[in-house]
Amino acid sequence: GPEKRPAPPGAPRPADAADLIARRDATFAEVQEHYYDAPPQIERGWREHLVDTSGRVYLDMVNNVTPLGHGHLGVADAVARQLRRLNTNSRFNYGSVVEFSERLAELLPDPLDTVFLVNSGSEAVDLALRVALAATGRRDVVSVAEAYHGWTIGSDAVSTSIADNPSALESRPDWVHVVDAPNAFRGRHRGADAARYAPEAAHRIHELAAAGSPPAAFIAETFFGNAGGIPLPAGYLAEVYAAVRETGGLAIADEVQAGYGRLGEWFWGFEQQGVVPDIVAVAKAMGNGYPLGAVITTREIAARFRTQGYFFSSTGGSPASSIAGLAVLDAYRDQGVQRHAAAVGAYLKSRLHELAARHALIGAVHGLGLYLGVEFVRDRDTLEPATDETRAICDRLLELGVIMQPTGDHQNVLKTKPPLVIERDSADFFVAMLDRVLTEGW
Ligand code: PMP
Repeated sequence: GPEKRPAPPGAPRPADAADLIARRDATFAEVQEHYYDAPPQIERGWREHLVDTSGRVYLDMVNNVTPLGHGHLGVADAVARQLRRLNTNSRFNYGSVVEFSERLAELLPDPLDTVFLVNSGSEAVDLALRVALAATGRRDVVSVAEAYHGWTIGSDAVSTSIADNPSALESRPDWVHVVDAPNAFRGRHRGADAARYAPEAAHRIHELAAAGSPPAAFIAETFFGNAGGIPLPAGYLAEVYAAVRETGGLAIADEVQAGYGRLGEWFWGFEQQGVVPDIVAVAKAMGNGYPLGAVITTREIAARFRTQGYFFSSTGGSPASSIAGLAVLDAYRDQGVQRHAAAVGAYLKSRLHELAARHALIGAVHGLGLYLGVEFVRDRDTLEPATDETRAICDRLLELGVIMQPTGDHQNVLKTKPPLVIERDSADFFVAMLDRVLTEGW
């Protein structure tokens, strides 16, 4: 397993972990609320491995932003060269923005050909909403329950997950309308009955239109990420997109987490649903850790948006972030990242199914590609969520050198999302450690 690998030479060590933890009050970012009293302090990494300030090696199973792994030299060198040369956004140096935007648009189906670069997923979702509101002249938006779309005011308004934001229900603005999460594993409609979610959502959209508030947009993840890595029921997006378009609204796909090869193809979330959205939000993976996000839409919708005012991001699509984006695309091509992710993902999923056959706590193994969810239940019939157990299992996994976290509205799913370049022996290591925890107790 990865514990045996030699630590690569890295930067000089920062202050020790205890010192950093004692100084946490300097920030009100999420470290303040961090669950752990004394979390290991990661200082470097390579591929799917991370090393803390004491030299201990961990397997990173919850990576959000580095599909090519930590310490990717191609991206790091390209960014460093560009930072030394120039990194400022202006009308006099947009060459790299144009070049990257063209390459990005090539990944998307027609007529999605116009790109606006930003710095993060929340910003991309916010801009996607803004584009839809501007292009339709409307104010209402339909979102799906149990979703996370970001933390800016707009993206937070359409975020519906109770786990991420317990006050979401009370604080939701009146222009956001929520339809049920099309969760085929748990929820009102299960299994084959999950086909009923789409007509219900379509009905809600038509109801809003009839009541004089036709929605500007329907926004959804194209793969049910936050709920635990659950694919949408077949035909779901086709039916709901048709309803929102019939009433003159637009379809927004949040591909921030599921896009960019995580499911094994560039945008397998909407591709396997057989739809083309009107507006797509992308981020996370695009810069392999360098801040980069994008909204991609059609030329026609972009033109309707442009008439609404002047928008410019001082750092979005800067020369360095555009160069990072290009270097990531080159590495995906040269390393065959999607093919690898699909193969290792299928292998890992089959190994997790083997575990499920031996451990009753595993209620289901969800997911596609390298976006898997191991859902823990106390009872396979009632599906009572094993929330406390999931937390304890994650704690024990950390002691064994695996970084993992719970997800879902019940916080009872292992968010299994390693860098896309993860090797099979690391996948085996994760399965072995999970097997050990489930066998020995937590
Ligand atoms: N949309 C989805 C589906 C996400 O998972 C996230 C981040 N977890 C975001 C949007 C927000 O992205 P960011 O954290 O880069 O602002």
